[in-house]
Amino acid sequence: MGIPVFVFAGLLVHCVFLASIFDIYFTSPLVHGMTPQQTPLPPPGKRLVLFVADGLRADSLYELDSNGTSRAPFLRSILENTGSWGISHTRVPTESRPGHVALIAGFYEDVSAVAKGWKENPVEFDSIFNESKYTWSWGSPDILPMFAKGASGDHVYTFCYTAESEDFGAQDAAKLDTWVFDHVKSFFNSSRSNQTLYSALNEEKVVLFLHLLGIDTNGHAHRPNSREYKENIRKVDEGVKEIASMLENFYGNDGKTAFILTSDHGMTDWGSHGAGHPSETLTPLIAWGAGVNYPQRVASQFFEDNFLKEWKLENLKRLDVNQADIAPLMASLIGVPFPLNSVGTLPLEYLNNSAHFKAESMFTNAVQILEQFKVKMTQKKETTLSFLFTPFKPLSDSEQINLLKKTRLYIQQEKYDEAVSLCKTLINLALEGLSYYHTYDRLFLGLSIAMGFVGWTAYVILVIIKTHTNLTKAAQSHDKESTILLYGFAFVGLIIAFFLLIQTCPWTYYVYCLLPVPVWYAVVKELHVIQDLAAYLLSLPVGQSMGFLLICALGIEILVFSFFYRSTLTIGLLVFAGWPVITQLWVQAKTTALIWILLCMLLGIFPLMPVVGREPNIPLVIATGLLTLLISCSSLSSLCKSKNKYMNNEDLKVQFYQMLSIALSTYVVSSTHDSLQNKQGLPVFNQIISWTTLVSSSVLPLLSPTFLFQRLFSILLSLMSTYLLLSTGYEALFPLVLSGLMFVWINMEQEALQQYGLSLKPKLAVFNFSYATDIMQFRQLHLDDVRRSFFFVFFIVTAFFGTGNIASVNSFDPASVYCFLTVFSPFMMGGLLVLKVVIPFVLVSCAFEAVQVTTQLSSKSLFLIVLVISDIMALHFFFLVKDYGSWLDIGARLLLKC
Ligand SMILES: [Zn+2]
Ligand SMILES: [Zn+2]
Repeated sequence: MGIPVFVFAGLLVHCVFLASIFDIYFTSPLVHGMTPQQTPLPPPGKRLVLFVADGLRADSLYELDSNGTSRAPFLRSILENTGSWGISHTRVPTESRPGHVALIAGFYEDVSAVAKGWKENPVEFDSIFNESKYTWSWGSPDILPMFAKGASGDHVYTFCYTAESEDFGAQDAAKLDTWVFDHVKSFFNSSRSNQTLYSALNEEKVVLFLHLLGIDTNGHAHRPNSREYKENIRKVDEGVKEIASMLENFYGNDGKTAFILTSDHGMTDWGSHGAGHPSETLTPLIAWGAGVNYPQRVASQFFEDNFLKEWKLENLKRLDVNQADIAPLMASLIGVPFPLNSVGTLPLEYLNNSAHFKAESMFTNAVQILEQFKVKMTQKKETTLSFLFTPFKPLSDSEQINLLKKTRLYIQQEKYDEAVSLCKTLINLALEGLSYYHTYDRLFLGLSIAMGFVGWTAYVILVIIKTHTNLTKAAQSHDKESTILLYGFAFVGLIIAFFLLIQTCPWTYYVYCLLPVPVWYAVVKELHVIQDLAAYLLSLPVGQSMGFLLICALGIEILVFSFFYRSTLTIGLLVFAGWPVITQLWVQAKTTALIWILLCMLLGIFPLMPVVGREPNIPLVIATGLLTLLISCSSLSSLCKSKNKYMNNEDLKVQFYQMLSIALSTYVVSSTHDSLQNKQGLPVFNQIISWTTLVSSSVLPLLSPTFLFQRLFSILLSLMSTYLLLSTGYEALFPLVLSGLMFVWINMEQEALQQYGLSLKPKLAVFNFSYATDIMQFRQLHLDDVRRSFFFVFFIVTAFFGTGNIASVNSFDPASVYCFLTVFSPFMMGGLLVLKVVIPFVLVSCAFEAVQVTTQLSSKSLFLIVLVISDIMALHFFFLVKDYGSWLDIGARLLLKC
């Protein structure tokens, strides 16, 4: 295989691999073609008012102020005297759109919806609004239109402020909420002189939806513990009170209005949402009015959290629900069909109604979810060969009929409790079955993708062995054998294609299932390399080869784990610290080995620290600046003292400029944060210096001497001056420690090379990049080079996760870019934060380049080893992906924000 073909094949395999993740894991769970289900008994309410306080945390609403009073007195009196309350548990991603979809349509939106676009309606879905007679909604243009567009006909009306005029909330975001309350009031006033509107408002099955964005906006800008966020809750409470009493007046206290207040998601202490922290997933739910239960006094109730005590609500029954349960609740209050794709279970305890009504509603709920199950099963059955089809056993056709009949009978015999519990069983089984059929192809597709990917990785290993080691003898070609092989594989491919064809599979399935065929053909063609490799491995002592494989596996597991638990990196670094001791390098170079051990342990501290940006510590940043200055001074003086004949005055000048820029950065960080603390804004002078530093730091290293350590040191100084400007705490020290370790690493690799007698000791100090490439003779690969590459991958991962920087990009913590700009500009801020993440990565890459050159390895062979290591890791992640709540959410959420 030529190089272009190899690169093309590699790209193809990786693209298919990536695309398959979306096809296998993130497909839409929605099905279509169900019949709407509605409870036959008359509903308690004629209209429903839904308040969604965007970004309101459960504890922020329920807790009492320091003086023991509630910041939402009206809502507090509701849950104490007239309504029911609880916590609604949301799922990740805790973003506005999935939250509203769960509330109003009753299902949890999958990531495919995100991948296919955020503003548009990616999939058709049914909602409470669609099932209502009329819905009027007020609020943000980001939320309302998506339910209006999905609705059939013209009965969902929206009133939004325009996206541009959201600026009127710039000073005080609570104005976004006042806008909504005012417009609702004037809307009802205007109806008194508009007969059509007046009669429409008096119809049954009417929904009023008030989306209140102020709390979310204030939370992002000032964090949930701020006065602004709490003050906004007070304003919303007042607004809800006014709207409630206005509506009671308008409808002449007919007792036919049901009210629900909840939120789409919560918010972390540092003002972000999207992930699965309890502060994000716990949202309040308060319901009152027509058909809703009164407060139930209890002597004691048990919950794992300690909220009840904190909130002084121990004696009022707390009724927790899943977010999607709110949709059937609303549907049963005003008697509209349950949304077709809803997976929510009706929370019966919220209902103030007869046992008969509850049982009938539950039965409707069960039938509605069962409908989805049936459609899904039919779909799967149609596209699978009958002898290959394995149905979901616990809910066979006869079992469905049996359960439904029994429930009907119980209701007729007025055994309502039995009927309800049977319905719950049916719902759980149907939901299980839904997910069974949704993931029906997952194992089969996953295995064929894995087959292709494993084949590819094996092929790369064979290429490495064939071209970069002397393990194999010259290739002998047997034309006849290879022709037979080709026909054999073509035949297998044809059979697979035939099977896919008769099952009418989508075209992507052909790609996934046929890809392994040519890949494995390429592997089997290199049979003689495999034979040579096997012969070599067998000639080694068993313990040695097994030990090698075990260490490889362990190393990769550590890397994979570090994506989930940063502290795993610390364990890896501790093992690294032991490396010189285990391999006897210790004897050879005592000082270097000692520094290596110390720096490994020092770097191991960082993954144990909390994620950056949560607790700013400016003095530490300043101290780091001064430390960097000190280090560069000492290096400068040692250079001058040694009177290095390779140095000249120009080079000293460059280093002097760089030290100046470090000093300036340190000053800018300290003065900017002082001035921001005194509410004086970002001084223009500081801003100019910051941007100049940023630009100059990319140019200055190019002027530095080309000697190995001088060049690397110069790169470090430049990157440090930028990194300091982007730091808010302990992470400032990170690149310094990391590059210290990198310098020692280069030395250590040199020592390791001598240990194997692979090289004479060249003087690293006078090693010059500008002559390096032409005098270099590449050597053959050695087993130790696998370790070398592993070190590189490990350091890259450490560079990314060492300080948890990824998380700070994700939550857009603006504090770390204050030296550059203070106006909110997501694009600029995002760019700067990405730069901050990339800087440690650049340091490691430079060091690896130096290692590669000084150990006389071709970059191609090292690249291939790195590729194999990362491909094996990728395969791990492939099987670790979950539908929700996984690390892939990070990517999905980044997509969401864009
Ligand atoms: Zn939201
Ligand atoms: Zn938000």
